Amino acid sequence: MFDLAGKVAIVTGGSRGIGRAVSIALATAGAHVLVNYRSNEDAAQETLRLIREGGGSGEILGFDVADPESVDECIKDAAKRLGHIDILVNNAGISIDQLLLRVSAKDLEMTWATNVNGALYCAKACIRSMMRHKWGRIINLSSVVAESGNPGQVVYSSSKAALLGMTRTLAREYASRGITVNAVAPGFIETDMTADLPDAARQSIIDQTPLGRIGRPEEVAAAVVFLASEEASYITGQVVRVNGGMHV
Ligand code: NAP
Repeated sequence: MFDLAGKVAIVTGGSRGIGRAVSIALATAGAHVLVNYRSNEDAAQETLRLIREGGGSGEILGFDVADPESVDECIKDAAKRLGHIDILVNNAGISIDQLLLRVSAKDLEMTWATNVNGALYCAKACIRSMMRHKWGRIINLSSVVAESGNPGQVVYSSSKAALLGMTRTLAREYASRGITVNAVAPGFIETDMTADLPDAARQSIIDQTPLGRIGRPEEVAAAVVFLASEEASYITGQVVRVNGGMHV
């Protein structure tokens, strides 16, 4: 439906879960997709295989988003090699769930290093190429809990709320350069991140979700592809909520 032919996209954490679905959906729309992963190269290769199986094009790109030198080196090298980076999806994320009294400095540092600093490093590394071509899309994966809060997720939810501030500020900073910056805030989506949730907690989430079910990664990917498209050119600084009505 949306045409991303000729665009180059980077999806951080494209090896699994939502990032895999986003990578496949962007490639299906015609983008050349750089599938980033941190450690799970086999999973990234599987994403690439699925992209190619669907007739799309892409490559894998291993780097840790929390390491500013690697981010800079890998993204700048890709931009030089491919000529441009048009779409950045800041999807890589981790969740360390603890009540405040049990939160350690290490939990906090690790989570923010990936979820917040990582997104900023990637945006910084991509923005020059986008400015040069006067066109760009940055899409940050936040979460329903950034806005609703959730007991036991103070570290994660605060990192995801930080991404909303980043989204709004970058939207204002780069609008005049033809770059839009938006966030997608998923509710509870079936991936490795949510796989270990006990049955009772899972049922309670379903009970709190008006659409009465858990979401699929492809349903999040559809919102990302729309925001990446030409058709979304007048949307910036916004949060698109893909949560089955869990938080309205
Ligand atoms: P997931 O299944 O746990 O996958 C996480 C992905 O992030 C993997 O591809 C992983 O790479 C990558 N990653 C983690 N740390 C990284 C780092 N430092 N550098 C590069 N890549 C890194 O997660 P998910 O459920 O798909 O979630 C994707 C995003 O959506 C996250 O930002 C998450 O917070 C957000 N979200 C998820 C849900 C949900 O219910 N699932 C809800 C709201 C928001 P490797 O494969 O190499 O480990």
